[in-house]
Amino acid sequence: MPNKTVAIIGGGIAGISAALELSHYDLDIHLIEKDYFLGGQAINYNCKANGQCLQCYACLVEQKLKELNQANNVHIHLASRISKFNKDANYELELVKDPLFDSEKEQEILKAAYKDDNNDGIVLRGASKNNIPFFALNLDKIKEQDQGFSSPALSKLYEQLDLNRSKTKQSLEVQGIILATGFQPFDPRRIQTYHYPVLDNVVSAFDMEKMRKAKGDYLRPSDNNLPQKISFIQCVGSRSETQGNLWCSRVCCPYALKMAEAIKTENPDIDITFFYMDVQNAGRNPTISPESYTSRFRFMRMMPVDILPGSDSSVIIRYMSSDQDKIESEDFDLAILSIGIEPNPENEQISDMFNLDLDKYGFLEDRSSVANTYADNNGIFSAGTATGPKNIAESIEHAGQAVKDLLTFLSDQENKEYGYQRQFIFNQNTSDRRGLDRNLHS
Ligand SMILES: Cc1cc2nc3c(=O)[nH]c(=O)nc-3n(C[C@H](O)[C@H](O)[C@H](O)COP(=O)(O)OP(=O)(O)OC[C@H]3O[C@@H](n4cnc5c(N)ncnc54)[C@H](O)[C@@H]3O)c2cc1C
Ligand code: SF4
Ligand code: SF4
Repeated sequence: MPNKTVAIIGGGIAGISAALELSHYDLDIHLIEKDYFLGGQAINYNCKANGQCLQCYACLVEQKLKELNQANNVHIHLASRISKFNKDANYELELVKDPLFDSEKEQEILKAAYKDDNNDGIVLRGASKNNIPFFALNLDKIKEQDQGFSSPALSKLYEQLDLNRSKTKQSLEVQGIILATGFQPFDPRRIQTYHYPVLDNVVSAFDMEKMRKAKGDYLRPSDNNLPQKISFIQCVGSRSETQGNLWCSRVCCPYALKMAEAIKTENPDIDITFFYMDVQNAGRNPTISPESYTSRFRFMRMMPVDILPGSDSSVIIRYMSSDQDKIESEDFDLAILSIGIEPNPENEQISDMFNLDLDKYGFLEDRSSVANTYADNNGIFSAGTATGPKNIAESIEHAGQAVKDLLTFLSDQENKEYGYQRQFIFNQNTSDRRGLDRNLHS
């Protein structure tokens, strides 16, 4: 009986966990990621422990990515997109792949050309040492640079690498698919009154995660110094009629509280204020109690009217007074916008291609048997934030359900094809499986 082949589209934490779980079974797995690196949004997040684990789950992403790199039945396709999907007989996917400069020599060249700032996104670096390859070259960006490069290191790329390499195509025949195409973080430029990114010291929480990864601390972008007075602004792009996003993103209160806790633990003298509507300290086991956060941070139950430039690169937050009769204002060194979760803008295209419905907000239909919203089980499942706001642990759990449903589907298919049902055998770990393969090939 031939091995079954499955595809997972999207290599964030949901796609990684699904691939990793499936790797323990006798299957061929293709993990298809459009970006140059695996890990999705969450690979950029930092540990928030304040002496004890605050269950931010960032380390799970590192851990699972590391394990995935050991799995020998997972084929990872980076910088790859599905260009065609043929639903006849087996599912046939056509992938279009950007060239990866992943040989040892090419990686050395890219490493030499990489610069943290000011390389215009041409040479990119993974957020984790478990990103393999660690450096990537964005050829489309190079083509935009018709005037040549300002930096001598980048100019050298013309001499050292074959920049005329073209995209390649590959087709895959698969029996089942998991769509783990994730979400889009809200773009705070859409709230013009907050002046992001016109004001250097108005940043998103996502920018702060990247800053901490790159520089080791949560610094003020204008001067790379520690801010002494910080404000978090909640519900940026969520629960907003103006933005057309009526949902609560569910992750931004917990992540902002944990980030504030991490900042305060390292620098107890920093003042932190939250502008908020409600605090959704969501999750099954909220790790920061209201007593703890209300004693350490100041809470202002109102949303800012706007953010304006102050003196010495500070920012002025203006808000309605509690009796709503006048506008008050206060200076901060840094304003952190707690941006929310929006549907992936490609969802309409994904829904057309794979024949899935969208919910009223534009997230993909949840096809798990737990949600039980589908009548026609066709071997296409959805996982993670592609179906709506979730934190990392919830995305992993949801991917586990998609894997379970996919295995049930494959068993049922075999029943139809061969007249009996195979239980997909769980190999305790991938090294067991490697041993098995070696024996078979010897
Ligand atoms: C600012 C911010 C901070 C957060 N902090 C935390 C935190 O501390 N703890 C926590 O638990 N949660 C946090 N979250 C939530 C967390 O980011 C998500 O739970 C998690 O990223 C969901 O993973 P995912 O795989 O579903 O989606 P994503 O992380 O969005 O991954 C989806 C992947 O699919 C790829 N993809 C998309 N479309 C295609 C396509 N057509 N073809 C191929 N690939 C495609 C994308 O490139 C991406 O790699 C935070 C969210 C935000 C916005
Ligand atoms: S869950 Fe978060 S806080 Fe806890 S150890 Fe992992 S990264 Fe650190
Ligand atoms: S989790 Fe908090 S910040 Fe995020 S949308 Fe809900 S209430 Fe607003």
